[in-house]
Amino acid sequence: MKKDFLQIEVTKNYPEFQLEARFTVAEGEFFSLVGPSGCGKTTLLRLISGLARPDTGRIILDGRDLTTVPVAERNIGFVFQDYALFPHLTVEGNIEYGLKIRRLPVDRRRERTREMLALFEIGGLADRRVQDLSGGERQRVALARALAPEPFLLLLDEPFAALDYGLRRRLRRELKELQSKLGFTAIFVTHQQEEALSLSGRLAVMEAGRILQVGSAMEVYSHPSHPFVATFLGDANLIPCTAQRTPEGFTVYPQGGKRCLHLPVQEGPAGPHLLMVRPEDVLFTRQDPVYTGEVVTIEYLGYGFAVEVKVGADLVLKMLTGKEMDHVLGEQVGLAFRPQSVKLIPRPE
Ligand code: ATP
Repeated sequence: MKKDFLQIEVTKNYPEFQLEARFTVAEGEFFSLVGPSGCGKTTLLRLISGLARPDTGRIILDGRDLTTVPVAERNIGFVFQDYALFPHLTVEGNIEYGLKIRRLPVDRRRERTREMLALFEIGGLADRRVQDLSGGERQRVALARALAPEPFLLLLDEPFAALDYGLRRRLRRELKELQSKLGFTAIFVTHQQEEALSLSGRLAVMEAGRILQVGSAMEVYSHPSHPFVATFLGDANLIPCTAQRTPEGFTVYPQGGKRCLHLPVQEGPAGPHLLMVRPEDVLFTRQDPVYTGEVVTIEYLGYGFAVEVKVGADLVLKMLTGKEMDHVLGEQVGLAFRPQSVKLIPRPE
């Protein structure tokens, strides 16, 4: 496996938007780009595919500099949110199309198309026109079409966004299984954190044209390096605090807290930070609480309760409890944090 199979270091400037990105993708990796609408995910995919040119920098794929190579010569597959299938062609015609463009001999083309129809279990739809298909079926055809020419790299731009939740989850699982079976390298764009976390080997979190953090789903969720990453990938309490270095790690003083916390060795300088605690890691306690405060919200979620506790003039802590809940609105409670679950994040200027 080549670790730096795809190397990207580019800038792109539009009148009201600047993109600056630098990351690598390993061969056979399923890599996600995740971030809110307008952060530059599609622009980045367009640069990789050749639909747009970077202003500066380079894109290297398997050792070959693609920066000035035309789209048609890159052998990169693209699956779009709106499928972009040819409505006048049948399912079979759509899958065969890319192979025709690559001038594959007719026999090989037919054989490969049959393989793809079987792989995606859409053989029964071969002669249907694509406008007569359901959304899920169309997306299977779009994936089959993109993978038919055995691209070096598959780019997927929110491919399941138009589908309902259940189907999206099913296709997501199927795609992941297919990717581990065939071993193709893929970059998957989504603005949904759940999708990115469940699919990716590694992911890059983007905001306003910048990549804030790259890492495995677990690393980025558990050790966000930036407040935006912490809150974008899930709910998080971000508590202003001061950290002092000790031989064992850090002693942390959360703003308005009843006591300090001792954190095992963590990198980074002492001084002002944000203490990140996920709602599921905030616990009720009667003994030696970090905070005390008033329960101001209790929301029943079925699998548990979302609870908010006001612990200071400007600080409300979010909790996610299990099915048992023996506290009531207005009650004074003590709170502690699950050991090992709190993280320090540098406080932005
Ligand atoms: P979404 O999730 O909504 O698709 P995105 O993260 O994919 O968003 P982009 O489509 O990459 O975001 O757009 C990023 C920014 O670049 C937007 O502000 C957009 O208006 C701007 N932009 C994209 N293409 C052009 C262009 N050709 N000319 C000018 N501005 C552009």
